[in-house]
Amino acid sequence: MLGGRGRTDIVRAFAWEERIYLRTQSPWIVGEAVHEGTHALDYNSGLLATLSVLQYEKRAWFYEHTFYRWNGASTHFDRIDYVVNFIRQAYRAY
Ligand SMILES: [Zn+2]
Repeated sequence: MLGGRGRTDIVRAFAWEERIYLRTQSPWIVGEAVHEGTHALDYNSGLLATLSVLQYEKRAWFYEHTFYRWNGASTHFDRIDYVVNFIRQAYRAY
């Protein structure tokens, strides 16, 4: 998530410019830090301003799920088209 959009009762993490916000109770807090950290780094580099929502969310989800896989955790995104479909549904309002 970028910019804290969405329902506050279900948002687990978000990035605002170069800052990231994480719920300390989240069991996926480190993976969420990778995701939101990607947005923050993209913001700092100027890349974020050049990308569509689909593009910058694909980058963040890719790095988050790559982190889970490197650490031996399972992920429900086995293929990139699953990630793209999820992003299109979850971020369709943006
Ligand atoms: Zn995101």
